[in-house]
Amino acid sequence: MTLLITDECINCDVCEPECPNEAISQGELIYEINPNKCTECVGHFDAPQCVQVCPVACIVIDLKQPETQAQLLDKYTKLSALKENKENETDLK
Ligand code: SF4
Ligand code: SF4
Repeated sequence: MTLLITDECINCDVCEPECPNEAISQGELIYEINPNKCTECVGHFDAPQCVQVCPVACIVIDLKQPETQAQLLDKYTKLSALKENKENETDLK
């Protein structure tokens, strides 16, 4: 499952730089997690980094977006390939 930031978010900005997938960004009112990029930190860390640093514990599992460990790992593999392609393109410039 991906994670979700609730409206208890105080916009402290601590979680954004911790995300290895750049899945967190400032939304209109509060910070938001892009479900297409969140892997629950699978592939990078043993536990969700954003949850660990959030001072108000407002990052929860999004029960509406169930994903298995295998699906999360697959997402991680695809995101890594995309990142690698982007880096290679930059190297050629
Ligand atoms: S769980 Fe990990 S990948 Fe998902 S938003 Fe939090 S830090 Fe990013
Ligand atoms: S760490 Fe928590 S309170 Fe701070 S911006 Fe992220 S979700 Fe919001």
